[in-house]
Amino acid sequence: MALNIDLDLCTGCGACVAVCPFCALTQRASDGKVEVNEACTACGACVEVCPVGALSLAAAPAAPAAAAPGAFRGLWVVAEQRRGRLQEVAFELLGKGRELADQLGVRLGAVLLGYGVGDCVAPLFEHGADRVYVVDHPALEAYTSEPYAEAMSELIRRHKPEIVLAGATSIGRGFIARVAIQVNTGLTADCTELAVDPETRQLLQTRPAFGGNILATILCPNHRPQMATVRPKVFARPAPEAGRTGERLDETVELKAPVVRVLETVNAMQNEVNVAGAEFIVTGGRGLGGAENFKLLAELADALGGAAVGASRAAVDAGWISSFHQVGQTGKTVRPKIYIACGVSGQIQHLVGMSSSDTIIAINKDPEAPIFAVADIGIVGGLFEVVPELIKALRQ
Ligand SMILES: Cc1cc2nc3c(=O)[nH]c(=O)nc-3n(C[C@H](O)[C@H](O)[C@H](O)COP(=O)(O)OP(=O)(O)OC[C@H]3O[C@@H](n4cnc5c(N)ncnc54)[C@H](O)[C@@H]3O)c2cc1C
Repeated sequence: MALNIDLDLCTGCGACVAVCPFCALTQRASDGKVEVNEACTACGACVEVCPVGALSLAAAPAAPAAAAPGAFRGLWVVAEQRRGRLQEVAFELLGKGRELADQLGVRLGAVLLGYGVGDCVAPLFEHGADRVYVVDHPALEAYTSEPYAEAMSELIRRHKPEIVLAGATSIGRGFIARVAIQVNTGLTADCTELAVDPETRQLLQTRPAFGGNILATILCPNHRPQMATVRPKVFARPAPEAGRTGERLDETVELKAPVVRVLETVNAMQNEVNVAGAEFIVTGGRGLGGAENFKLLAELADALGGAAVGASRAAVDAGWISSFHQVGQTGKTVRPKIYIACGVSGQIQHLVGMSSSDTIIAINKDPEAPIFAVADIGIVGGLFEVVPELIKALRQ
């Protein structure tokens, strides 16, 4: 519905302005007659109070028609690269994408956006892509969301894939929502599982909802492509098939002059090991009791030969460590060989980010702590006694 204003009838009394709950009505300075802005939800509150019947609700103009789902074929993965290096998530998505594309009986495409990124093509074929769509353009050298979205949307309009997957990284999250809007479809963010129904060709996009208390499976039945993002480490990287090749398509896309220019790139992470991608992680929770005690975990990380230090959200919220270290639903998803949780209770929002670790070791003084349900090795005890003993043993 949309609000219609008959300016011939409007007397400029202002009654409607006073009742609008969204501040969507204003009076023109020239004659006091009323105008509506984009905050209007067509709730109708103003219609009821207008004494002269100048306001009415009418059907809104039809939204652009969704393209027929049947006209779209193929599954695409965004092959995210940074400074010419393909990111792990690109391979992880190719692994899952291959499985889904085979079930649908379609080709698996990888979309490579960047400048001077030709070296990235071969590894994409080796990890399962049948086709690689390359947009090599100076405007795509340093990532900014506008040209990335423009290029991706243009490729989608041109080739009509039925599914598009991207990493839920700062880059993927940064531009893919714009793409969904530009091509008039939906987007499910941060999926933890993906499947397809080969009969309906629908993508079953599963993700935690309501604070992680339920897993919701989301469908996009009427619009194409079906689009989803997946965090790094949710899917396993497939083994490469050396020498496997495919079809490379070099695409030309006209890109507008960028509104945003990157002046300098600064690496904020010079002395820290990133939990995402780390093989060993030592995580501290509220049980650590204070920021200063993260030093003990740093020592344990060092004794392990350079492990990353992770944190629960409780530790981050307490201001003991930066959110960069947070593991879990609103932090990072990790899949290390060894995950040592110290003073972490193991709430579901933490577990969704680390339960795929190869070996989980939990140290907690509460024998009933839920973390023990997912731990391979559980140590019931105070971390200030157990961790120094571990460090001593490792150093020996
Ligand atoms: C929408 C939403 C998103 C969230 N996202 C995340 C997320 O991304 N990551 C995350 O971690 N949480 C997240 N949370 C918060 C989550 O629900 C928990 O509150 C949080 O994980 C608890 O952190 P914790 O285990 O460190 O603290 P607590 O639950 O307070 O547990 C502390 C543990 O330390 C133990 N302990 C205390 N002293 C010692 C000691 N001396 N030695 C050994 N053990 C000791 C205690 O027995 C206890 O089990 C989210 C919550 C919501 C609602």
